[in-house]
Amino acid sequence: MDRIVIENVEVYARHGVFPEETRLGQRFYVNAVLYLDTRRAGISDELEHSTNYGEVCCLISDFLQEHTYKLLEAAAEHLAEKLLLTFPLVERLELEIRKPSAPIPVPFSSVSVRIERGWRRALIACGSNLGDKESYIRNALQKISEDEKCRMESVSDLIVTEPYGEVEQDDFLNGALVVRTLYTPQELLAFLNRLEAEADRVREIHWGPRTLDLDIILYEDQVIRTDSLTIPHADMQNRRFVLEPASQIAPEWIHPIYGKSLLVMKEELR
Ligand code: ADP
Ligand code: MG
Repeated sequence: MDRIVIENVEVYARHGVFPEETRLGQRFYVNAVLYLDTRRAGISDELEHSTNYGEVCCLISDFLQEHTYKLLEAAAEHLAEKLLLTFPLVERLELEIRKPSAPIPVPFSSVSVRIERGWRRALIACGSNLGDKESYIRNALQKISEDEKCRMESVSDLIVTEPYGEVEQDDFLNGALVVRTLYTPQELLAFLNRLEAEADRVREIHWGPRTLDLDIILYEDQVIRTDSLTIPHADMQNRRFVLEPASQIAPEWIHPIYGKSLLVMKEELR
């Protein structure tokens, strides 16, 4: 991908663990690589089609002077997030903050922290089979699109499906959505669980009736297996109510373990 490269923005600021550092301050240097598509600006020669590196440099400088962090890690984390939220064309970035005068009792030339952050694509399935199903789902979609760390990319049609598993219960309304998000998979799960709780969901019977179910189906091409999170979603290949809406909005997305697209997986389920 194309990039804009910024080197050694010098900022006098007050980040550090020691009291002298926050009182007296010292010099910091920032390097940034912004990944974005510059094609449109390249053709049109219009600044509004790109990201203004002057504004980026000013934001870096202002941000580091206005805040005080003990750790370079924290300064970099918060600055990266601020840049990604402020400049919508930037898809991801590398950010390095150097501290050449850090209080270290041996000779050295510089220390720095370098991180990479960006917008990640996630495929989420939603379902409801209790109460006003459509409004539980629409409400959740609204809250997701209002969250600053999520950008809604597409939403499928909602379909009516028969319940899955042994429990006798009402039909479901199901759908899928693709978001670009700054949340990690764990943070995204916590966010979705919060939305479920706000929809009066009580966790009772496994696979039983629920006002709102939000599952992470895919997150980029990542494979994750922890006690609280399995990505790709463990049972997605068997669920028409997931694959039908998911393949409508993201037919080409490849399942990172099976190596098949959602469209092919849906066809094979038939
Ligand atoms: P289900 O969605 O399978 O019907 P629940 O919604 O009750 O069941 O989810 C139970 C637990 O599944 C959640 O608390 C969560 O920790 C775990 N889980 C594991 N992987 C995922 C995932 N990809 N998306 C959502 N929840 C997941
Ligand atoms: Mg769930």
